[in-house]
Amino acid sequence: MDFEFSDRSQDITARVGAFFETHVLPRNRDWRDWSENNSGDPVWLEDLRAKAKSEGLWNMGLSGLPESKPGQGLSNLEFAPIAEIMGRLAWAPVVFNCHAPDVPNMITLLEAATPDQQAQWLDPLLDGSVRSAFAMTEPATASSDARNIAMRIDKTATGYVMNGRKWFASGAAHANCKFMIVIGAMSDAAPRSGHTALIVPMDTAGLKQVRKLRFMGWDEPCSPMAELEFNNVEVPASALLGVEGQGFAVAQTRLGPARVHHCMRAIGLAETVIEMMVARASERRAFNKTLGEYDTVQGWIARSRIEIEQARLIVLKCAWLLDKKGHQSAWRDVSIAKVAVPAMLNGVIDRAVQLFGALGGTDDTPLPAAMAWARAFRIFDGPDEVHLRQIFRQEKPASGPLADSPYLSKPI
Ligand SMILES: Cc1cc2nc3c(=O)[nH]c(=O)nc-3n(C[C@H](O)[C@H](O)[C@H](O)COP(=O)(O)OP(=O)(O)OC[C@H]3O[C@@H](n4cnc5c(N)ncnc54)[C@H](O)[C@@H]3O)c2cc1C
Repeated sequence: MDFEFSDRSQDITARVGAFFETHVLPRNRDWRDWSENNSGDPVWLEDLRAKAKSEGLWNMGLSGLPESKPGQGLSNLEFAPIAEIMGRLAWAPVVFNCHAPDVPNMITLLEAATPDQQAQWLDPLLDGSVRSAFAMTEPATASSDARNIAMRIDKTATGYVMNGRKWFASGAAHANCKFMIVIGAMSDAAPRSGHTALIVPMDTAGLKQVRKLRFMGWDEPCSPMAELEFNNVEVPASALLGVEGQGFAVAQTRLGPARVHHCMRAIGLAETVIEMMVARASERRAFNKTLGEYDTVQGWIARSRIEIEQARLIVLKCAWLLDKKGHQSAWRDVSIAKVAVPAMLNGVIDRAVQLFGALGGTDDTPLPAAMAWARAFRIFDGPDEVHLRQIFRQEKPASGPLADSPYLSKPI
């Protein structure tokens, strides 16, 4: 087993790290001020994006990126340490055009879109001139069971018409969001089937943003979430993404890398949090000692380090599997990462809030937003319980009854 990253990965990691320290981190307070009062991206962020792009630090999370397109086309494993750096700040991935949900949408469009669709929708995303969203979850149906989709799609003479409601579509409330990939069900299909993916421009007649959504008071400023109403929303036949009735196959192309990229960024966020814990523990004094002199606090930090390292190994193995064997073979490991990493992150952030005392609950620190995101991470891209079910199902049954097992020193 080789624990070293490729030369290309090491080179780009160093460059992204330097760019992050020099240009991104110093703007964090500007981002906080901007995002409290505005939607969309500030001009200075556009300038930063242009700079990152001109330095080739762009579209790094797309292993299937053709050479003709702008960006790096790194493997998932090569991307891991880079995504970690970006994950240290919630908005940093946007600087490098490596943010969700645009990257998962790029992956979907690379795999399932026709050349015309790619020219119309993928190229502007790769270029960074537009934003996008993915709308599958619905308020009226339990969406962790993806077959439950209630949105109806009817065929017309020239295309499709949609009726229904979606919510928690990340990025849909962004000022520059130009289109969504929407998953609905053909109205003439049997219940729980006929799922179809359509590309829907945001300015289509009948599509209404009902409201912006918050999760535990946090509004995801990089990719603001929306509830959306579809009232006879009509699109041409050319909006069909992939094959009619096989929208799940389209949705699944995005899931492996999308989940693992979130995990990589989550590890970066945990690194930010542990760094802040160490600083606070060495500076803050109580009962004539620094907090870091207490065994309890040392244990919190050491336990956090152990959990981060465990999570990183799980994620790296998963990235390696995705690269070597594809997402069908990596399914179980993606689920393992998707449960293990949010558990780690929630634990680390909880300890950090405790260590910071009252300050830890204020927006003066990144901890409340991080905590909301970490908590959401146990739900989006599949709740823990759905992944646990997947993992359980892949455990091999015993070859015979337990009573006869040679592992038992006597039959039971
Ligand atoms: C911050 C955030 C961003 C999101 N971004 C998007 C997005 O961009 N696009 C999009 O389409 N959706 C998005 N979502 C929605 C997310 O994917 C769904 O919330 C998720 O799939 C769960 O669906 P649900 O909320 O309908 O929960 P439900 O299906 O109602 O499930 C509720 C709970 O039931 C339990 N449960 C479900 N199944 C089982 C089971 N088999 N065994 C045991 N327990 C079970 C779980 O604990 C689960 O949390 C986002 C959500 C959040 C919070």
